[in-house]
Amino acid sequence: MKILVLGGGGREHALVWKLKQSPRVEKIWCAPGNGGIAAEAECVAIDAGDVGAIVALAEKIQPDLTIVGPELPLVNGLTDAFRQRNSAVVGPSQQAAQLEGSKIFSKQFLERHGIPTAKMYGTYESPSEVYDALNSVAWPVVIKADGLCAGKGVFLAPDFAAAKDFVQRVMEKNELGPGGKRILLEETLEGEELSFIILTDGKRYAPLVPTRDHKRVFDGNQGPNTGGMGAYSTDELLPDALREIIRSTIVEPTLQGLAADGIPYQGFLYIGLMLTKSGPKVLEFNCRLGDPEAQAILARMDFDLAEILNDVVAGCLDPSKLHWKPGASACVVLTSGGYPGKFESGKKIEGLTAVEQITGVKVLHAGTRLVGATVVTNGGRVLGVTAVGETLEAALASAYRAVAKIHFEGMHYRKDIGAHATPLRAAGD
Ligand code: AMP
Repeated sequence: MKILVLGGGGREHALVWKLKQSPRVEKIWCAPGNGGIAAEAECVAIDAGDVGAIVALAEKIQPDLTIVGPELPLVNGLTDAFRQRNSAVVGPSQQAAQLEGSKIFSKQFLERHGIPTAKMYGTYESPSEVYDALNSVAWPVVIKADGLCAGKGVFLAPDFAAAKDFVQRVMEKNELGPGGKRILLEETLEGEELSFIILTDGKRYAPLVPTRDHKRVFDGNQGPNTGGMGAYSTDELLPDALREIIRSTIVEPTLQGLAADGIPYQGFLYIGLMLTKSGPKVLEFNCRLGDPEAQAILARMDFDLAEILNDVVAGCLDPSKLHWKPGASACVVLTSGGYPGKFESGKKIEGLTAVEQITGVKVLHAGTRLVGATVVTNGGRVLGVTAVGETLEAALASAYRAVAKIHFEGMHYRKDIGAHATPLRAAGD
């Protein structure tokens, strides 16, 4: 098989790494890829969100299968363009990707099918409508900009003044771009968060191993939100009883709802959940693997990813084929100093070869590029140092041992990834 992977972050490096292990894969391209992916695939300097350019690339190189990493190509209709050309692609249609691309679409879908979620107060198209509505909400209230806002579109407002300030920035100053044209208000949920990710061919589905990520930039969950500072996976995280509740109250009604609405869904579906006192409730859908959750999940994969993704496209996914390594995995993200605020790029990364010797460790590149033979930083999140182990402690120890050997100017990482990991509990336990 010849495979094209779209995207250029740690998630895409993880996909390329696993696909390359398949005996059926003879060639991988990645657009645009990065400095680490370049060692394992042929990188093509095309923006993954540019549907026209990607279609032209595929017509030229004729991949047997295309796998979409990030959300933008999905929301831009890339999979529809491929399917019109009978070109095999993993990822939901543009319409299905609205589950991520529009918070209002997603909330209406959840309400229409009676799937547990935060109660919505309403949706609004002008600041004055929002201010009126804010007079009759319970505080704190959650304000969500409708469209894709690079993770900045959700605000938990403690009071009217803070809410008004956010609404002004989103709707009047257009700080988040067109994604902020419409706003949704919903109740605040309390509980622990869990990402539940499935792979589906539209009929059958297989849950991937459970993971949790760490969003805040500093230890102890301090500082601003980031794209993700690390993730870990261990089966103990998700007791069977809770898994069954999530399957029966969330996953199956979601797939049935999509089918009832005539929206076939094929690919990865990431369900962000809040485990509240009255059961799991949906916070959000993402139409793709999370990053860095993907790194932790793929590290535990013990099956042929190319074969399984081929089955997904052919509509014959067999969930019993997805075997996982027992034990645990962890991914520690190394960032440029200053991220998620201003940071500098172009710093030389040292120690990458030394790390290759550590068993069970794989360094997945995110924001890197090659300058000649030298790998330099090229983004906020630079590397995801990923390790497997028989226990979470062992996986973390290997990952941090590797981190200690890597260096670049300004390098920052959290030292508490996977610390305080306790099994999540079903409501009422
Ligand atoms: P979303 O993109 O909708 O998942 O929102 C991003 C983050 O905001 C979530 O991971 C939660 O931490 C938080 N969040 C979103 N909706 C709610 C809610 N209704 N109640 C409490 N926190 C929320």
